[in-house]
Amino acid sequence: MVTGASSGIGEATARRLAADGWQVVAAARRTDRLDALTAGTPGIRAVPLDVTDPRSVEALATAAASCDLLVANAGGAFDLAPLADADAETWARMYDVNVLGTVRTVQALLPALRGARGQIVLTGSTAGRWVYEGGGGYVAAKHALAALRDTLRLELVESGVRVSEVAPGMVATEEFSLTRFGGDADRASAVYAGVDALTADDVADAIAWIASRPAHVNIDLLQLTPQQQAGPGKVIRRPSDGAEPDG
Ligand code: NDP
Repeated sequence: MVTGASSGIGEATARRLAADGWQVVAAARRTDRLDALTAGTPGIRAVPLDVTDPRSVEALATAAASCDLLVANAGGAFDLAPLADADAETWARMYDVNVLGTVRTVQALLPALRGARGQIVLTGSTAGRWVYEGGGGYVAAKHALAALRDTLRLELVESGVRVSEVAPGMVATEEFSLTRFGGDADRASAVYAGVDALTADDVADAIAWIASRPAHVNIDLLQLTPQQQAGPGKVIRRPSDGAEPDG
């Protein structure tokens, strides 16, 4: 089960896992995009999912009676505003999608995961450990997700279900920054100016590696960054390119 599979990291992960021989269920809200994904790739079927809607998430349980792997990836950033000007509703939406959405998804699939002694991979972020100006709401949500991962790890160890977090730095996906900046393409492309950012396939590769470890190995956290991104606010860009803080 891959959530947020209609674009970016989730879509690349669904494709990669299918290529590796997994039977993949791809979940997201935009079913037209999921249909395009399933049409072109054997081994993937689609289910509609809105992680902010409890009834939609509960229906996931019927889509997968048994689940070897949950990649809880649906999420995103919705602003880049200093805390002093932040809109609490926007922060609440980020918390709902990234944190509560993950909680709902895990709850719905836990019986199927327990039955299969399966594995959970959460898509966190360097924002789960680093902070940056304007990132407060997203950073708070991804810090919460990191806490969720540690908590689940403790709570599920007896069940045999493994729990991991993949935590990328800048990933040049088509939609992440567009969503953050409300569709402003110039601001969105400036995020990646002068940087060879990670690709969705790089992250999918990391997830596929985590998922293919033997049953006695739990990868707690896999953080990956572009070579040019060394830390919060420390992105080395090629000269003459613009700059916008990263996600
Ligand atoms: P995208 O915007 O391309 O992907 C976000 C995915 O989440 C989409 O498939 C979207 O599908 C889905 N989604 C959003 N809201 C909901 C919802 N309510 N219910 C179900 N699905 C939803 O961005 P990325 O691929 O870049 O991001 C994927 C994940 O990786 C996110 O959690 C993001 O925070 C994280 N990340 C991204 C980084 C980056 O730099 N790009 C860096 C580190 C982490 P749909 O709209 O069809 O529902």
